[in-house]
Amino acid sequence: ASRTVAGVLAEAAESRATVVLSGHVNPDADALGSTLALAEGLRRRGARVLPTFPGEFTLPASLGWLPGAEGLVPSSALPSAPDVFVSLDAASPGRLGEIAVLLDSAGTSVVIDHHASNPGFGELRLVDPGAPATVTLVADLLDDLGVAIDRQLATCLYAGLAADTGSFRFGNTRPQTHELAARLLATGIDHAAISRRLFDTAPFGWLGLLSVVTGRAVLEPDVGGGLVWTWSSTAEAAEHGLPGEQLEALVDVVRAAEEADVAVVLKGQDDGSWSVSMRSRGGTDLARVAMELGGGGHTLAAGYTSHLDREGTIATLRDQLTAL
Ligand code: 5GP
Ligand code: MN
Ligand code: MN
Repeated sequence: ASRTVAGVLAEAAESRATVVLSGHVNPDADALGSTLALAEGLRRRGARVLPTFPGEFTLPASLGWLPGAEGLVPSSALPSAPDVFVSLDAASPGRLGEIAVLLDSAGTSVVIDHHASNPGFGELRLVDPGAPATVTLVADLLDDLGVAIDRQLATCLYAGLAADTGSFRFGNTRPQTHELAARLLATGIDHAAISRRLFDTAPFGWLGLLSVVTGRAVLEPDVGGGLVWTWSSTAEAAEHGLPGEQLEALVDVVRAAEEADVAVVLKGQDDGSWSVSMRSRGGTDLARVAMELGGGGHTLAAGYTSHLDREGTIATLRDQLTAL
């Protein structure tokens, strides 16, 4: 009989197996929400769970309040060969950073994801590019495992759902998405507080950073279906008294420029590389563009890392968008 993800996880919980769960580097609400919800569900069913995330062990302020976040374990404290490893919301092994070694060392590796660019890795896969968020796949799994979705689990799931659908504005929102949201709201979660923390809360210094970054935005209407781009860096964020995570929301403002199909923010990292965030209105397959440039993502939201300088980075991207 073929082993299903739900079957393997139920068996692992039953036998009190050790299960490590991790999302991608620079975890977002979908990565952490799905990790914490599935970890808590498996813990309730009897598993010894170790929820974690790759990279420096600091959570963005917008996510530290998620229920269960206090139980996250630094990757340096993980066993080298757990019974089961579960990857959540990671489009490729590279997105798991130092934790990717567990794909091979764990007794069983399970991959749960919704990225169009996912090449198919891990032994057992629950990968659905039609799912708006990884948390929807986790909600289905919790149902399969017979775990009741209470307020705690619903808070984690709702955070991921609201984040990856842009609060139900993006095209990935389907009737079932609203049905799940309704079910989560019915548990009594404070959805207004969740949304405010996720989307409408930043230090005052963010306003200054935003004005500098939008002020230097460049519109190139003739590149592809129109390109708007700008840039910042972790160093510039620091000048405004901000941690690097505050660069993430900039693209959500830049994408408002109606003359451009594609909006891009180049985010300079501490190591000198550029982390590139891209968004499309619908005319460009950005998962494909990102994959060509060594990254990945969804059709309308994707990214990659560039080791060229700023001009080289945008020139290479311009060429890709023109070639489509
Ligand atoms: P964001 O712009 O919000 O950082 O990322 C948008 C989407 O692109 C996310 O789904 C994310 O997983 C994906 N993405 C961003 N950067 C990278 C990258 O360097 N590599 C890969 N494979 N995917 C990325
Ligand atoms: Mn994510
Ligand atoms: Mn996601």
